[in-house]
Amino acid sequence: MEKWPIGVFTSIDAGLGVKLEVAHELGVPTIQLHAPKKETRTPEQAKRFLDRLKELGITLTAVFGGFEGESYADIPTVVRTVGLVPPETRAERLVEMKEIADFARVLGCDVVALHLGFIPHDRNDPQYPEIVAVTQELCDHCARNGQRLHLETGQETADALLAFIQDVGRSNLFVNFDPANMILYGSGEPISALRKVGSYVRSVHCKDAKWAANPGKEWGQEVPLGQGDVGIEQFLRTLAELGYNGALTIEREIPHEPERQKREIGYAVQLLQDLKRQILG
Ligand code: MG
Repeated sequence: MEKWPIGVFTSIDAGLGVKLEVAHELGVPTIQLHAPKKETRTPEQAKRFLDRLKELGITLTAVFGGFEGESYADIPTVVRTVGLVPPETRAERLVEMKEIADFARVLGCDVVALHLGFIPHDRNDPQYPEIVAVTQELCDHCARNGQRLHLETGQETADALLAFIQDVGRSNLFVNFDPANMILYGSGEPISALRKVGSYVRSVHCKDAKWAANPGKEWGQEVPLGQGDVGIEQFLRTLAELGYNGALTIEREIPHEPERQKREIGYAVQLLQDLKRQILG
Protein backbone atom coordinates (compact mmCIF):
# COMPACT_ATOMS: atom_id res chain seq x y z
CA MET A 1 0.00 0.00 0.00
CA GLU A 2 1.09 3.60 -0.64
CA LYS A 3 2.52 5.59 2.26
CA TRP A 4 -0.05 7.43 4.45
CA PRO A 5 -3.25 6.18 2.80
CA ILE A 6 -6.12 8.32 3.96
CA GLY A 7 -8.68 6.65 6.17
CA VAL A 8 -11.83 7.38 8.09
CA PHE A 9 -13.27 6.00 11.31
CA THR A 10 -16.46 4.05 10.54
CA SER A 11 -19.31 2.38 12.38
CA ILE A 12 -21.89 -0.25 11.51
CA ASP A 13 -24.24 -0.05 14.48
CA ALA A 14 -22.09 1.16 17.39
CA GLY A 15 -19.57 3.94 17.94
CA LEU A 16 -19.29 7.46 16.54
CA GLY A 17 -17.95 6.76 13.05
CA VAL A 18 -19.47 7.31 9.63
CA LYS A 19 -21.13 4.62 7.54
CA LEU A 20 -18.99 2.66 5.09
CA GLU A 21 -20.90 4.32 2.24
CA VAL A 22 -19.61 7.74 3.35
CA ALA A 23 -16.03 6.48 3.18
CA HIS A 24 -16.77 5.28 -0.33
CA GLU A 25 -18.44 8.54 -1.43
CA LEU A 26 -15.45 10.51 -0.16
CA GLY A 27 -13.07 8.23 -2.06
CA VAL A 28 -11.21 7.15 1.06
CA PRO A 29 -9.17 3.94 0.52
CA THR A 30 -8.90 2.72 4.15
CA ILE A 31 -11.07 2.55 7.25
CA GLN A 32 -10.90 1.75 10.90
CA LEU A 33 -14.06 0.08 12.18
CA HIS A 34 -15.72 0.47 15.55
CA ALA A 35 -16.63 -3.07 16.62
CA PRO A 36 -20.31 -3.70 15.92
CA LYS A 37 -22.72 -4.87 18.59
CA LYS A 38 -22.49 -8.44 19.78
CA GLU A 39 -25.50 -9.61 17.74
CA THR A 40 -23.84 -8.25 14.58
CA ARG A 41 -20.49 -9.96 15.22
CA THR A 42 -21.46 -13.12 13.34
CA PRO A 43 -19.58 -14.97 10.59
CA GLU A 44 -22.44 -14.14 8.15
CA GLN A 45 -22.23 -10.41 8.89
CA ALA A 46 -18.45 -10.55 8.67
CA LYS A 47 -18.66 -12.11 5.23
CA ARG A 48 -21.21 -9.53 4.06
CA PHE A 49 -18.99 -6.71 5.33
CA LEU A 50 -15.88 -8.19 3.72
CA ASP A 51 -17.67 -8.59 0.40
CA ARG A 52 -18.77 -4.95 0.58
CA LEU A 53 -15.21 -3.79 1.37
CA LYS A 54 -13.89 -5.74 -1.58
CA GLU A 55 -16.55 -4.31 -3.87
CA LEU A 56 -15.67 -0.76 -2.77
CA GLY A 57 -11.90 -1.35 -2.83
CA ILE A 58 -11.53 -0.30 0.79
CA THR A 59 -8.94 -1.79 3.18
CA LEU A 60 -9.75 -2.33 6.86
CA THR A 61 -6.74 -1.24 8.97
CA ALA A 62 -8.03 -1.66 12.56
CA VAL A 63 -11.02 -2.79 14.60
CA PHE A 64 -11.73 -0.63 17.66
CA GLY A 65 -13.31 -2.15 20.73
CA GLY A 66 -15.99 -0.34 22.68
CA PHE A 67 -18.47 -1.33 25.35
CA GLU A 68 -22.06 -0.75 26.45
CA GLY A 69 -22.16 1.66 29.34
CA GLU A 70 -19.22 3.79 28.24
CA SER A 71 -19.84 7.51 28.29
CA TYR A 72 -17.62 10.39 27.24
CA ALA A 73 -19.98 13.01 28.75
CA ASP A 74 -17.23 14.63 30.81
CA ILE A 75 -13.81 13.65 32.16
CA PRO A 76 -15.01 12.19 35.52
CA THR A 77 -17.56 10.08 33.62
CA VAL A 78 -14.82 8.75 31.34
CA VAL A 79 -12.79 7.76 34.41
CA ARG A 80 -15.81 5.90 35.79
CA THR A 81 -17.09 4.20 32.64
CA VAL A 82 -14.53 3.75 29.87
CA GLY A 83 -12.47 0.73 28.91
CA LEU A 84 -10.96 -2.05 30.99
CA VAL A 85 -10.11 0.22 33.92
CA PRO A 86 -13.46 0.27 35.84
CA PRO A 87 -13.09 -2.80 38.10
CA GLU A 88 -16.76 -3.79 38.24
CA THR A 89 -17.01 -4.43 34.46
CA ARG A 90 -13.39 -5.42 33.79
CA ALA A 91 -13.82 -9.20 33.65
CA GLU A 92 -16.86 -9.17 31.35
CA ARG A 93 -15.32 -6.52 29.09
CA LEU A 94 -12.10 -8.54 28.80
CA VAL A 95 -14.19 -11.47 27.56
CA GLU A 96 -15.97 -9.18 25.09
CA MET A 97 -12.71 -7.60 23.93
CA LYS A 98 -11.35 -11.07 23.14
CA GLU A 99 -14.53 -11.76 21.16
CA ILE A 100 -13.98 -8.50 19.28
CA ALA A 101 -10.40 -9.55 18.51
CA ASP A 102 -11.70 -12.87 17.21
CA PHE A 103 -14.25 -11.03 15.04
CA ALA A 104 -11.43 -8.83 13.70
CA ARG A 105 -9.52 -11.99 12.81
CA VAL A 106 -12.51 -13.24 10.83
CA LEU A 107 -12.37 -9.89 9.02
CA GLY A 108 -8.69 -10.56 8.25
CA CYS A 109 -7.62 -7.60 10.37
CA ASP A 110 -4.37 -7.83 12.33
CA VAL A 111 -4.91 -4.70 14.45
CA VAL A 112 -7.25 -4.40 17.41
CA ALA A 113 -7.45 -1.14 19.30
CA LEU A 114 -9.23 0.41 22.24
CA HIS A 115 -9.46 3.14 24.81
CA LEU A 116 -8.14 1.25 27.81
CA GLY A 117 -9.56 3.90 30.16
CA PHE A 118 -7.90 6.10 32.76
CA ILE A 119 -4.88 4.08 33.90
CA PRO A 120 -3.99 5.21 37.45
CA HIS A 121 -1.08 7.62 37.15
CA ASP A 122 0.38 6.35 40.39
CA ARG A 123 2.07 3.00 39.79
CA ASN A 124 1.56 2.22 43.50
CA ASP A 125 -2.21 2.37 43.10
CA PRO A 126 -3.54 -1.12 43.94
CA GLN A 127 -5.51 -1.12 40.65
CA TYR A 128 -2.37 -0.56 38.57
CA PRO A 129 -0.97 -4.14 38.56
CA GLU A 130 -4.45 -5.49 37.81
CA ILE A 131 -4.75 -3.25 34.76
CA VAL A 132 -1.28 -4.32 33.64
CA ALA A 133 -2.37 -7.96 34.03
CA VAL A 134 -5.62 -7.56 32.08
CA THR A 135 -3.72 -5.82 29.27
CA GLN A 136 -1.14 -8.63 29.19
CA GLU A 137 -3.94 -11.18 28.93
CA LEU A 138 -5.55 -9.25 26.07
CA CYS A 139 -2.20 -8.84 24.28
CA ASP A 140 -1.55 -12.57 24.59
CA HIS A 141 -4.97 -13.34 23.14
CA CYS A 142 -4.30 -10.98 20.23
CA ALA A 143 -0.86 -12.54 19.71
CA ARG A 144 -2.47 -15.97 19.35
CA ASN A 145 -4.64 -14.38 16.64
CA GLY A 146 -1.54 -12.91 14.97
CA GLN A 147 -2.72 -9.42 15.95
CA ARG A 148 -1.30 -6.29 17.50
CA LEU A 149 -3.10 -4.28 20.17
CA HIS A 150 -3.06 -0.49 19.79
CA LEU A 151 -3.86 1.72 22.77
CA GLU A 152 -5.70 4.92 21.93
CA THR A 153 -3.97 7.94 23.45
CA GLY A 154 -5.56 10.70 25.42
CA GLN A 155 -6.09 9.82 29.02
CA GLU A 156 -2.40 9.48 29.84
CA THR A 157 0.58 11.74 29.50
CA ALA A 158 3.19 10.42 27.08
CA ASP A 159 5.48 9.50 30.01
CA ALA A 160 2.74 7.60 31.83
CA LEU A 161 1.79 5.74 28.65
CA LEU A 162 5.42 4.76 28.01
CA ALA A 163 5.82 3.51 31.58
CA PHE A 164 2.61 1.49 31.23
CA ILE A 165 3.67 -0.10 27.92
CA GLN A 166 7.00 -1.07 29.47
CA ASP A 167 5.27 -2.53 32.52
CA VAL A 168 2.96 -4.61 30.31
CA GLY A 169 6.04 -5.82 28.42
CA ARG A 170 4.38 -7.39 25.38
CA SER A 171 5.90 -7.13 21.92
CA ASN A 172 2.52 -6.74 20.17
CA LEU A 173 1.46 -3.69 22.21
CA PHE A 174 1.53 -0.38 20.31
CA VAL A 175 -0.13 3.03 20.17
CA ASN A 176 -2.92 4.59 18.12
CA PHE A 177 -1.92 8.23 18.47
CA ASP A 178 -4.79 10.73 18.58
CA PRO A 179 -3.32 14.25 18.85
CA ALA A 180 -6.68 15.88 19.56
CA ASN A 181 -7.27 13.65 22.57
CA MET A 182 -4.09 14.96 24.19
CA ILE A 183 -5.72 18.41 24.06
CA LEU A 184 -9.28 17.31 24.86
CA TYR A 185 -8.14 15.48 28.01
CA GLY A 186 -5.44 18.02 28.81
CA SER A 187 -2.77 15.32 28.95
CA GLY A 188 0.01 17.15 27.14
CA GLU A 189 1.14 19.05 24.07
CA PRO A 190 0.46 16.60 21.21
CA ILE A 191 3.59 17.03 19.08
CA SER A 192 6.05 16.54 21.94
CA ALA A 193 3.93 13.60 23.16
CA LEU A 194 4.11 12.09 19.67
CA ARG A 195 7.91 12.40 19.69
CA LYS A 196 8.09 10.61 23.05
CA VAL A 197 5.90 7.64 22.15
CA GLY A 198 6.86 7.70 18.46
CA SER A 199 8.54 4.32 18.31
CA TYR A 200 5.25 2.67 19.38
CA VAL A 201 2.94 4.59 17.02
CA ARG A 202 1.48 2.21 14.42
CA SER A 203 -1.79 4.02 13.66
CA VAL A 204 -3.09 7.55 14.09
CA HIS A 205 -6.27 9.55 14.23
CA CYS A 206 -6.35 12.83 12.35
CA LYS A 207 -8.55 14.88 14.63
CA ASP A 208 -8.26 18.43 15.92
CA ALA A 209 -9.26 20.23 19.11
CA LYS A 210 -8.93 23.41 21.13
CA TRP A 211 -7.64 23.49 24.69
CA ALA A 212 -10.10 23.96 27.55
CA ALA A 213 -9.73 26.92 29.92
CA ASN A 214 -8.89 24.36 32.64
CA PRO A 215 -7.20 21.47 30.80
CA GLY A 216 -7.63 18.09 32.47
CA LYS A 217 -10.59 19.30 34.53
CA GLU A 218 -12.98 20.01 31.71
CA TRP A 219 -13.16 18.93 28.07
CA GLY A 220 -11.43 20.81 25.34
CA GLN A 221 -13.49 21.30 22.20
CA GLU A 222 -13.24 19.02 19.16
CA VAL A 223 -13.17 21.08 15.94
CA PRO A 224 -12.78 20.35 12.20
CA LEU A 225 -9.30 19.23 11.12
CA GLY A 226 -6.95 22.18 10.64
CA GLN A 227 -8.98 24.56 12.82
CA GLY A 228 -7.70 23.53 16.23
CA ASP A 229 -4.53 23.65 18.32
CA VAL A 230 -2.92 20.38 17.13
CA GLY A 231 -1.03 21.95 14.24
CA ILE A 232 -1.86 19.30 11.64
CA GLU A 233 1.01 20.19 9.32
CA GLN A 234 3.51 19.85 12.17
CA PHE A 235 1.78 16.63 13.22
CA LEU A 236 2.34 15.15 9.75
CA ARG A 237 5.90 16.47 9.52
CA THR A 238 6.65 14.80 12.84
CA LEU A 239 5.13 11.53 11.61
CA ALA A 240 7.40 11.81 8.57
CA GLU A 241 10.46 12.34 10.81
CA LEU A 242 9.47 9.26 12.80
CA GLY A 243 9.26 7.19 9.61
CA TYR A 244 5.55 6.52 10.07
CA ASN A 245 4.06 4.76 7.02
CA GLY A 246 0.57 3.84 8.21
CA ALA A 247 -2.86 5.25 7.46
CA LEU A 248 -4.05 8.76 8.28
CA THR A 249 -7.45 7.95 9.74
CA ILE A 250 -9.79 10.91 10.03
CA GLU A 251 -12.03 10.98 13.05
CA ARG A 252 -14.81 13.53 13.45
CA GLU A 253 -17.08 12.69 16.32
CA ILE A 254 -20.37 14.45 15.56
CA PRO A 255 -22.58 11.51 14.50
CA HIS A 256 -25.74 13.40 15.52
CA GLU A 257 -25.02 15.77 12.60
CA PRO A 258 -24.32 13.31 9.76
CA GLU A 259 -24.39 15.84 6.92
CA ARG A 260 -22.00 18.18 8.67
CA GLN A 261 -19.83 15.20 9.69
CA LYS A 262 -19.54 14.08 6.07
CA ARG A 263 -18.84 17.59 4.78
CA GLU A 264 -16.12 18.24 7.36
CA ILE A 265 -14.51 14.85 6.72
CA GLY A 266 -14.50 15.80 3.03
CA TYR A 267 -12.56 18.98 3.85
CA ALA A 268 -10.20 16.94 6.02
CA VAL A 269 -9.51 14.54 3.13
CA GLN A 270 -8.62 17.51 0.94
CA LEU A 271 -6.39 19.06 3.62
CA LEU A 272 -4.53 15.78 4.18
CA GLN A 273 -4.05 15.23 0.44
CA ASP A 274 -2.57 18.74 0.08
CA LEU A 275 -0.27 18.27 3.07
CA LYS A 276 0.81 14.82 1.88
CA ARG A 277 1.85 16.31 -1.45
CA GLN A 278 3.83 19.08 0.28
CA ILE A 279 5.52 16.83 2.81
CA LEU A 280 6.11 13.61 0.87
CA GLY A 281 6.65 15.36 -2.47
MG1 MG B 1 -9.41 8.88 18.48
